Amino acid sequence: MSRPADLRRALVVGAGLSGSAVAFSLAQRGWAVTVLDRASSPGAGASGLPVGLAAPHVSPDDHVLSRITRAGVEATLHRAQALLNTGTDWDLTGVLEHNMAGKRRLPADASDLHSSPASAAQIAAAGLPAGTPALWHSHAGWIRPRQLVAAQLQTPGVHVRWDQDVHAIERQAELWSVTDAQGRTLAQSRFLVVASAFDSLALLRPLPGFAVPLNPLRGQVSYGLMSDLKTDLGAQPSPALPPFPVNGHGSFISGVPTPEGPLGWYIGSTFERNCEQAPVRTEDHAANQVRLATLLPDLGQAMSGQFGPNRVMGWAGLRCTLPNRLPAVGPIDPLRLPGLWISAGMGARGISLAVLCGELTATWMSHEPLPLPPALVKHLAAQRYATSKI
Ligand SMILES: Cc1cc2nc3c(=O)[nH]c(=O)nc-3n(C[C@H](O)[C@H](O)[C@H](O)COP(=O)(O)OP(=O)(O)OC[C@H]3O[C@@H](n4cnc5c(N)ncnc54)[C@H](O)[C@@H]3O)c2cc1C
Repeated sequence: MSRPADLRRALVVGAGLSGSAVAFSLAQRGWAVTVLDRASSPGAGASGLPVGLAAPHVSPDDHVLSRITRAGVEATLHRAQALLNTGTDWDLTGVLEHNMAGKRRLPADASDLHSSPASAAQIAAAGLPAGTPALWHSHAGWIRPRQLVAAQLQTPGVHVRWDQDVHAIERQAELWSVTDAQGRTLAQSRFLVVASAFDSLALLRPLPGFAVPLNPLRGQVSYGLMSDLKTDLGAQPSPALPPFPVNGHGSFISGVPTPEGPLGWYIGSTFERNCEQAPVRTEDHAANQVRLATLLPDLGQAMSGQFGPNRVMGWAGLRCTLPNRLPAVGPIDPLRLPGLWISAGMGARGISLAVLCGELTATWMSHEPLPLPPALVKHLAAQRYATSKI
C-alpha cells in the first residue's frame, strides 16, 4: 500500500550508519528524506571508525542475536557490493575467528550457514599454530563505515543538512518539530526517525511513556602504517601477515587505507563503560597491544615496535548499547507518539546491523513486507521499551 505523496516525507536526526541507512531505504521507496546532523561531514560519531568487521555471530542454539546478525551481515554486504569500491572501501575477504576459550560454537547443523571450522591452511595463513580452534566465516569482511555512510547519503531523494544541532523534539498539530538550542525550528515532518545514537536519549527522555536504556560504551582502535610494519617484519624471521581479518579477542585487520590515506594495520578495540567522551588514550594502545598478543601471539611479538609513540595512531568513539545487545527499531509508541520512530542502539555491531535496521524501518513505514520474520522483529522493536504496551 503506497502513501499519498504529501505523507511520504520524513526527517531523520543523525547521519551515521543508522540514519544514513534509514534515509537510503526510505528514498529507495520514493520517500523524500531530510537528514539533520550536528556535525559538518559524515562520520562524526561511532561511524567514523576507520575500519570494522561485518561478521556473523554464531551460537550452538542459533539464538536470536545470531539469526539477526546473520541477516544483518547479508544486508550490509549486499549494500556494500552495490555502493562501495572493493579493495578500498570494503572487501569480502572472509574472516577467521580465533575461538578463544572455545566460546563460539556452531549449531549441530550448520549447513545453511556461511560459517564452518577453519581449515588447517586458513589457520596457518593466519600465523596461528596448527590445531588452534578457529572458525571460518566466508560471507564476512571489512568495511570502512564512513564510506558507506557517505554513499548512502548520496542517494537521490536524500537531502542532508549538516551543522544542525537538534536540541529538542516536540509534536505540534500532527507534525514533529525539531528545534535548536535557541528554540528555533530546524525542520518539521509527520514522520521523524531519531538515529542519533546515545544522544537519542537526550531527545527522547522528555517524552512521556518511553524509557529506552541507551548507554555509551567507549572504544579505541590502535593503528599504524603498513610501510612501517613491513620494514619491521622484513628484518626478522616473522610470522605471515594474515591475508584476511582475524577476530576473537578484538580484531586485527591489515592492508586497509588509513584516514590519513596510506595503507594501514588495525587492532581493536577497547571497551569502557560509563564514559561519555572519546579521547584517544596512551593506555588504550597498551591494552590493544596486549589484545593483539593474545589474538595472534607470534605477530603480536613481531609487532611490538609498532606501538611506540612515534608510530601508533588511534581513533576512539562511543558505541551506543542496549542491555540485550540488540538495537531499538521502529515506532516508539504509535498511540501516544504517532509518527515518531527510532533506529539506535547498534552497540558493537552497527556495521552488521544498521543496514538491516534501515530496511526494517523503511519497509515498516511503507507498509511493505518486513525483511525479517515477526519472531525476530519483536526482539528489535522499540516498543519493547514503551512503558504502556500496545
Ligand atoms: C572502537 C569501535 C569499534 C567498533 N567496531 C565495530 C566492528 O568491527 N563492527 C561493527 O559492526 N561495529 C563496530 N563498531 C560499532 C559501530 O561503529 C556503531 O555501532 C555504528 O557506527 C553506530 O552508528 P550510528 O549511526 O547508530 O551512530 P553514530 O555513528 O554515532 O551516529 C550518530 C550521529 O548522530 C549525530 N548526532 C548526535 N546527536 C545529534 C543531535 N542532537 N543533533 C543532530 N545530530 C546529532 C552525530 O553527529 C552522529 O553523526 C565499533 C564502534 C567502536 C566505537
